Amino acid sequence: MTAAPLFDSDSEGRPDFDTVYTRCPACGVVAASSSASYRLTGDGGLDPTFPIELTCWQAGHRYTVTSAAFLPRDAQRVCARPSCGATFACPAQADEVTCPACRLLQPGPFLTPARSDHVRQVRADYADTVRALLHPPGGRP
Ligand SMILES: [Zn+2]
Ligand SMILES: [Zn+2]
Repeated sequence: MTAAPLFDSDSEGRPDFDTVYTRCPACGVVAASSSASYRLTGDGGLDPTFPIELTCWQAGHRYTVTSAAFLPRDAQRVCARPSCGATFACPAQADEVTCPACRLLQPGPFLTPARSDHVRQVRADYADTVRALLHPPGGRP
């Protein structure tokens, strides 16, 4: 098997950020990001001199990386959606993966039961934070 590129590009050569995997420095979860801000070079590639700002989808953590932080996609998954079934590359240490064909978010190769508990806890903490913002303690019901 030949090594997959760090990420896929669309037909115009722009990076597909659903195929860019990093480890969120705040919660430690490895997944694609929920949003990305970056700059492109004239030929549509990633500008390596410009920082890339990513948002972790588990808990909305924002962090800045360079392409050096992109994890190698050294494993393969078959999409869990039966009607899709696409085979795609992802890091062996990914907790969650996104199918580039149908965009379904699904468990990654590294999602052991213990990791699954961690990811659930990260999301639960985030939900609590959001609830506290919407309904501050001591506020009117
Ligand atoms: Zn995070
Ligand atoms: Zn799929």
